[in-house]
Amino acid sequence: MEGIRILKGDIIYSKSQDELVTMKDGFLVTKKDTILGVYQVLPIEYSEGLVEDYTGKLIMPGFTDLHVHAPQYTFRGLGMNMELIPWLNTYTFPAEARYADIEYAKKVYPKFVEDLKNSPTTRAGIFATIHVESTEYLMDLLEESGVIAGVGKVNMDRNSPENLIEETEETLRNTRKWLSDIDGRYKRVFPIVTPRFIPSCTNETMEGLAEICRETGLSVQSHLSENQSEIAWVQELHPDTNCYAQAYDKYGMCGSGSKAIMAHCVYSDQRKEELEILKKNQVWVAHCPESNMNLASGVAPVKKMMREGIRIGIGTDVAAGSKLSLFTAMADAVKASKMRWVYVDKEEEPLTVAEVFYLATAGGGSFFGKVGRFEEGYEFDAVIIDDSRLSEDELSLYERLERLVYVPEESQIAAKYVRGENILLHK
Ligand SMILES: [Zn+2]
Repeated sequence: MEGIRILKGDIIYSKSQDELVTMKDGFLVTKKDTILGVYQVLPIEYSEGLVEDYTGKLIMPGFTDLHVHAPQYTFRGLGMNMELIPWLNTYTFPAEARYADIEYAKKVYPKFVEDLKNSPTTRAGIFATIHVESTEYLMDLLEESGVIAGVGKVNMDRNSPENLIEETEETLRNTRKWLSDIDGRYKRVFPIVTPRFIPSCTNETMEGLAEICRETGLSVQSHLSENQSEIAWVQELHPDTNCYAQAYDKYGMCGSGSKAIMAHCVYSDQRKEELEILKKNQVWVAHCPESNMNLASGVAPVKKMMREGIRIGIGTDVAAGSKLSLFTAMADAVKASKMRWVYVDKEEEPLTVAEVFYLATAGGGSFFGKVGRFEEGYEFDAVIIDDSRLSEDELSLYERLERLVYVPEESQIAAKYVRGENILLHK
């Protein structure tokens, strides 16, 4: 029985995008950092395992925030009066430039990490800024928090303000310095190559980053087809391409050379070539519904992409999204899909709570390997939620999930396991 730990409670997880499992008074059996299985009746061979009794509480896989900008947390909820490009120039770039000063990073990054640790998120894909020292500091804090995260020092060497830009050689040199500084430093945090987006990276930088990816096998994260003027701008910068995704793909940085997360993909269905690249190269699309509403970008064709077999997860995209809660992001994804159904495409049915739950757990989790499901061999990430204040009436487990997604503020996280460790117990 060594290392066997059994969580007893009301279990919910997605077996696939079409199948949600709910089990009242079930048993989640784990061994160290791995899931062994979910049972309604505890098998006799586990009868002497250590039971943690969460009777009456919800036990769910951890949630993955597939796209979030840590340095932007300081202005969440502010400046939502613009579309993408003016918003970047007016609010985002001045805010990110401040991280050149490590003392500023030390003042503000701890709050982001603390709030992330106390949220339902167990895994995240995180953008830092162009600054090496502040990025390493953020990674140190994340490692200490117990959350598992891929973090990117951002690359920007054109079309950016004087105080938030590097020379081409400098941005590549700084990326290599960052990677060499942190080599072997972390167990839970890892680097991701992070060109901000095509307009802020020269061809030479893209080539240099592709070379780093080839040498190191690192993944890529970036932005794709978020806004119409951005797409038109990329077309001007790369007139040889048929779609935005090709501007990454020609460097092997859209899933063909290395694993890739592309945030948004709001207009990816307008070019057949782009959908094909996302599918063929098994890119993870990070759907960021609140951000796409706040910056009036649009609503991504999530249901269509799911049906095409494209990998999708959910991102909060703070600070274009205002909250770190994946529950809120899930509710926003459902609501946005209804507006898409009303105004854009009557053929594309709105998303259900079961589907967005799948995206936020198994969908995004798959970027990190066997993560986001309660199946044998998966990593033991779980969030235990006390939703007793939300259950005045007798509700089914699915109804409790629905209510939690819409009214998360009345619930509490009782425990949060990441790779087998309850990280809320750790200071
Ligand atoms: Zn973003």
